[in-house]
Amino acid sequence: MNYSKSLIIFLLLLFSLQTVAGLHAGKTRKMFMPGVPFYETEDLGGGLYAFRYGPYRNIFVVGDDGVIATDPIDVRAAKPLREEIAKITDLPVKYVAYSHSHWDHASGGQIFKQAGAEFVAQQECAKNMSETPHPDVVPPDITFDQQYSIKLKNASLDMYYFGPSHDDCMVVMIAKPANILFVVDITSAPTGWEMEYNPTMAEGYLFNMVPYLKAVEALADREGVKQIVSGHMAIGYNDKNRIFVQPSVGPIDAVREKRIFWEILFASVERELAKGTSLDNMPDKLLASPQFKEEFLDNLHKRNWRDSEMWILLRRVGTYVTTGR
Ligand SMILES: [Zn+2]
Repeated sequence: MNYSKSLIIFLLLLFSLQTVAGLHAGKTRKMFMPGVPFYETEDLGGGLYAFRYGPYRNIFVVGDDGVIATDPIDVRAAKPLREEIAKITDLPVKYVAYSHSHWDHASGGQIFKQAGAEFVAQQECAKNMSETPHPDVVPPDITFDQQYSIKLKNASLDMYYFGPSHDDCMVVMIAKPANILFVVDITSAPTGWEMEYNPTMAEGYLFNMVPYLKAVEALADREGVKQIVSGHMAIGYNDKNRIFVQPSVGPIDAVREKRIFWEILFASVERELAKGTSLDNMPDKLLASPQFKEEFLDNLHKRNWRDSEMWILLRRVGTYVTTGR
């Protein structure tokens, strides 16, 4: 996710207010932000489309014999997603591919399941979805370990797993023939220099973040991938300091940037702890450090984080540096 907690709260509030407003507005198109429709679909070429619903985004791939959808987001999002797909093609949604198991991306698939779609996920997602079930989450029909290619006639979606990261079943996907990478939560378009999504989330496998992102960089090199679409929209600020929605496609460099984000963060925390600073004092020390400001904080979007959430992230990284987990 690409904005500070306060902005998230602001957007979620707007999100719910607009939903309520939308219920009373009859046929009037709901707005997400002034001038920004609540949901929209973008044609990225090569049978690939990006669908945004509020601050969330997924992709779908249209082949000659069917459609592959990805994260349905939730019950409210899945309905307009199905309508948007139906505006483009009469072909059935044959598959739904999950990026990972978190409910805020993986809910809402029932309407595709009822219409006959098969659900695909990395095998650990099946375990997560049975351990922490949610009534709106459809468990996968097809699971795999390292790699799986969902094939349509003249299009495919290739799913790659590189071990635990943001959760323990997160995959990245390459849509073919568009050759664009879909990546959720572990980096975002247009840049990886963003505050980590929700530093309070316990299930972040920090020990494998850098190897995972390096593996994605190597994959992109191997496959000649130059662009990404991410599972969240990013906010930009124009000259007048007004916010706008960034385009859904960004450069592959966002993967490398997020890897460097973690490398600098880990090294900074290790350095501070090596001085004998306690875990509890380390976040405040780093937040006041000119070196940390120059090496790390200044790279982040100025409006994209708050000291209080950076404190939590630093404390979390301190736990990782101390325990290895
Ligand atoms: Zn997630």
